[in-house]
Amino acid sequence: LAERPSTALSLALIGQPGSRWRIPTPAGVIDLDAFDRNVARMAARAKAAGLALRPHAKSHKCAALARRQIAAGAVGVCCAKLGEAEALSAAGIRGILITSSLAGAPSAARAAKLAGLDPDFAITVDHPDGATEIGQAAQAAGVTVRVVIDVDLGMGRTGVASVEQAVAVGAALAAQPSLKLIGVQGYGGHWQHMSGANARTAAVADGIGKLSEVASALRAQGHEITLMTGGGTGTFSADAAQGVLNEIQAGSYAFMDREYREALGSDEDGAFETSLMVQGRVISANAERWVTVDAGLKAFATDGPMPEPLGEGWAGSSYRFFGDEHGMVTRPRHRTVARGERLEFTVPHCDPTIDRYDLLHLVRGDALVDLVRVEGRGASQ
Ligand code: PLP
Ligand code: MN
Repeated sequence: LAERPSTALSLALIGQPGSRWRIPTPAGVIDLDAFDRNVARMAARAKAAGLALRPHAKSHKCAALARRQIAAGAVGVCCAKLGEAEALSAAGIRGILITSSLAGAPSAARAAKLAGLDPDFAITVDHPDGATEIGQAAQAAGVTVRVVIDVDLGMGRTGVASVEQAVAVGAALAAQPSLKLIGVQGYGGHWQHMSGANARTAAVADGIGKLSEVASALRAQGHEITLMTGGGTGTFSADAAQGVLNEIQAGSYAFMDREYREALGSDEDGAFETSLMVQGRVISANAERWVTVDAGLKAFATDGPMPEPLGEGWAGSSYRFFGDEHGMVTRPRHRTVARGERLEFTVPHCDPTIDRYDLLHLVRGDALVDLVRVEGRGASQ
């Protein structure tokens, strides 16, 4: 962990009182108590609804955080990318479901290798050729790969677009002796940030039937479909009410970003705490109306609402991107700001923000309690 001077500095601060406010900046900071409360709350909601929870690790790509989710009852984690899954698998995480289809024999071979390490590993496929690729790789590696058919619920990003396509993929899977079809996936990304619980409930009610329809058609062809996986932070209540899914893939609930905060407001699906912050430092305070912090375009994901300064002294101040490395924060009305002063910000969008950091600073109150690696950071291949 200690290959850089800044990392060595953070490591030396662990456990010291007040150390949260001495870390090198800009830094990704996780309020561990808030994170653990979020994780416990989602685990309890899933348990109460009779749903398995396989949180999406695309949000954090971090084995230490995945382990906390699994310890709280998650059955494993989802990964968006092969590289991310390899990184978490190498760190000992099991029960990985890759939720995006792959293309090409080299990727299929890497997936087969992961399946050999993880008896609960599974991968999604949305085309007969994808089934053939994975089937050949599995056979060459001498492993069985568990497969889930991805179903497009109207977003149009990935997934089979019709029952006919699903049945064709099912037939291609059945032709591969080293593959085992276990279920279907449907993720309505376009529903997650709809404002108003009623709007999300209506959208899910309208679209999730497609997943049941595909599952029924596959069963009618003799396939055994047991896993019905999908769902995110925004649609948890609606997914639980519909009763189609039996496993939920929500990820952002562990952190809550500004995008989700604005969309979900204070309704049931949004009742999670902000646990992810970026800490920055005032590096120049010579302008009359603003100060400049060391956190800019490279410190945050830039889609979604602007970062928001946290802390009482900053009420009413606002942030603007000020170039690659810098941010502009308007001066608070009733006090001065000193060069070197620190402040934390909420983030526009959690997943791509964490992907900007090699390490996360885990804090409790004012103390840095741990420094953890984001193993899958940048591993998008
Ligand atoms: N499942 C899939 C396939 C996803 O792409 C995502 C996020 O984009 C999730 C689950 C997690 O959803 P959320 O971050 O809204 O909780
Ligand atoms: Mn996201």
